[in-house]
Amino acid sequence: MDTNRYIEDLRFNFPALNTKVNGYRLAYLDNAATTQKPQQVMDSLNKYYTSSNANVHRGVHFLSESASEAYEQARNKIQKFINAEHSAECIFTRGTTEAINLVATSFGQQFIQAGDEILISLMEHHSNIVPWKLLCERTGAKLSIIPIDQNGDLELDNLAELLKPNTKIVAITHVSNSLGTLNPIKQIISQAHALNIPVLIDGAQAAAHLKIDVQDLDCDFYAMSAHKCFGPMGVGLLYGKKQWLEQMPPYQGGGDMILQVTFDKVTYNELPYKFEAGTPSVADAIAWGAAIDYYLKLDLALLARHEHELYFCALSELQTIPGLKIIGNAKNRIGLISFTLDGIHPHDIGTIANQYGVAIRTGHHCTMPLMNFYNIPGTARASFAFYNNYADIDQLCDSLTKAQQLFNKRA
Ligand code: PMP
Repeated sequence: MDTNRYIEDLRFNFPALNTKVNGYRLAYLDNAATTQKPQQVMDSLNKYYTSSNANVHRGVHFLSESASEAYEQARNKIQKFINAEHSAECIFTRGTTEAINLVATSFGQQFIQAGDEILISLMEHHSNIVPWKLLCERTGAKLSIIPIDQNGDLELDNLAELLKPNTKIVAITHVSNSLGTLNPIKQIISQAHALNIPVLIDGAQAAAHLKIDVQDLDCDFYAMSAHKCFGPMGVGLLYGKKQWLEQMPPYQGGGDMILQVTFDKVTYNELPYKFEAGTPSVADAIAWGAAIDYYLKLDLALLARHEHELYFCALSELQTIPGLKIIGNAKNRIGLISFTLDGIHPHDIGTIANQYGVAIRTGHHCTMPLMNFYNIPGTARASFAFYNNYADIDQLCDSLTKAQQLFNKRA
């Protein structure tokens, strides 16, 4: 099959890609922030609110039953998508951030106390730093940090020393949202498990690029956001092994998460409902299921090849631009490229790129400790999805050259 033809055809499924920006075609290279959605997702949202809208789990009437069924079907689709053993291990959250906060709060309350350590890495997103920092402030536990080298690879030679008897959990990103580093999480998980330490994986940047198999990874928790893998905003997932979730107290209290309530005593619902207090994002969960259905029908082997080739094409094209410095040169990298341009603030790079229809993100990308490590205020970041094409790369490189011309003229 002709790959370019295949990609051009499937781009029609993503209406937002047809947007014109300042008279230019849109080169959407901000997929790490959020991916565009296929028409199937919008159709699913529309269909839900048009013909199935009702609150779930609490009604005996027709619409409530059909909404509940569709919501649980969505959970089953996501369970299959990540190969979880039980659907009860799949908890709908608002996204990765809420999933990590859930674990930090609930696991933290049950298992972490003063003097304990939580091991994270230097490349974490603030969502995988601040919830743990808050926990440390509440309990007197301490954060410990896996360092990285200049290439943006984790320095794992001393991992054995960082995994101490008082280390209670390891929380680490699968793919760095600032460097694109693909971390060897299987190795980290098995080393931590040898000492009975559970591991949470921040999967926000992985699911759009990799097959996620939580049983194969053997992770204890896996957090992800639908909107970063072609689904809607407002919904995400916490996968957790039953053995942990069963021991953890509820995160929030409210409707649906209870069995019995009296003013003296509350008993809690079974998994996953124990962790889903209140009305969930029903339409969004169902539309995420529609995104997964759409995605799994694609030729995933072809898309993986295309993304790989596009990535290395972008890398080599960018490297020909004088004064452009790639930040991060990890052994295994996917999905995104961070860079700086001599003499131009990242914010200005993004603003000028936008004038030529190119959507990239600039700034610290919610990874301030990582930016401090590289001693830079931020980067410009081009991030890819399977629907990106070579025209997007050309447009990006042209816009960067234009930015340089503009700044050289001013200098
Ligand atoms: N972790 C990583 C690595 C991310 O890239 C992001 C989003 N930028 C998050 C966590 C937070 O995801 P969300 O805002 O969807 O909760």
